[in-house]
Amino acid sequence: AKHQGRNRYSYFTSDMREVALNRLSIVNGLRQALANAELRLYYQPIVDLRDGSVYKAEALIRWQHPQRGLIGPDIFIPLAEEQGLILDIGDWVFRRAIHQVGEWRERFRPDFQISVNKSPVQFQTDQTFYKNWLQILLDAGLPGDSVTIEITESLTLGGKPIVAEKLQLFRDAGIQVAIDDFGTGYSSLAYLKRYDIDFLKIDRSFVRNLDSNENDRVLCAAMIAMAHTLGMQVIAEGVETERQRDLLAAAGCDYAQGYWYTVPLPADQFEQWLLDSGR
Ligand code: C2E
Ligand code: CA
Ligand code: CA
Ligand code: CA
Repeated sequence: AKHQGRNRYSYFTSDMREVALNRLSIVNGLRQALANAELRLYYQPIVDLRDGSVYKAEALIRWQHPQRGLIGPDIFIPLAEEQGLILDIGDWVFRRAIHQVGEWRERFRPDFQISVNKSPVQFQTDQTFYKNWLQILLDAGLPGDSVTIEITESLTLGGKPIVAEKLQLFRDAGIQVAIDDFGTGYSSLAYLKRYDIDFLKIDRSFVRNLDSNENDRVLCAAMIAMAHTLGMQVIAEGVETERQRDLLAAAGCDYAQGYWYTVPLPADQFEQWLLDSGR
């Protein structure tokens, strides 16, 4: 893990009373964060395992808090979902990410793609966001295939027709869809077939012990083989060692993402990483 320790945010103390107070101040501050331009997107490369090239990145949100420093999404996204702030935040993320991929398409590769995380809450409560998003794409003059939407598999559970409908609207516009954290929920791969999914992201809990755990190695290989049979490509998350990368590549995994390459970086540092690594 070459880059561990750099650009990592600090988590709040776990003391219970502190947590309650923090929560309150986060909720209040979050309402202002958008207006005060305190939100940031960081980018982590998604590396093509065939040749090590990079033409994809995942956008990951952070909150640059004026007093507390960089706050991670695991802290404030659940609160934003609870407080109804996720809709505005989701639109901001999409707009920002689209702007960025437009720049990188001009400066690096015309086929550069950006992956954006989609809150299941927004998927379920906001009936119009896809119209906003398609408009944002249109305004930017970018084709649908410049963006991939990452959703967690829980969203596909129960086969809700409304979810399939919205996903289809995106796919009609050329936008690709990835299932995030795959393997942590209960859906089967055969089930996902109904949704016409482009990418499967193997959760990092399966990658973590690849070096030592034969079971995880078998599981990863099986997920990769089945995903391919169903016409999906596979991205492995949380790749932290060269050995993990090699094992995944040998199992036919298409892409890898993780600290072994780099932690998520602000746009300018991402660009520098891209240039330095010659990818
Ligand atoms: P995720 O989508 O599963 O994102 C991957 C997380 O794993 C990121 O954490 C990333 O920094 C971290 N990671 C990457 N490589 C490694 C590695 O090698 N080892 C380990 N241990 N971790 C690695 P992050 O940035 O803290 O994001 C956490 C979660 O917050 C994301 O999980 C995603 O569910 C959510 N999130 C992030 N950005 C957004 C956003 O813009 N909108 C929404 N709705 N959710 C977001
Ligand atoms: Ca993700
Ligand atoms: Ca994930
Ligand atoms: Ca996750």
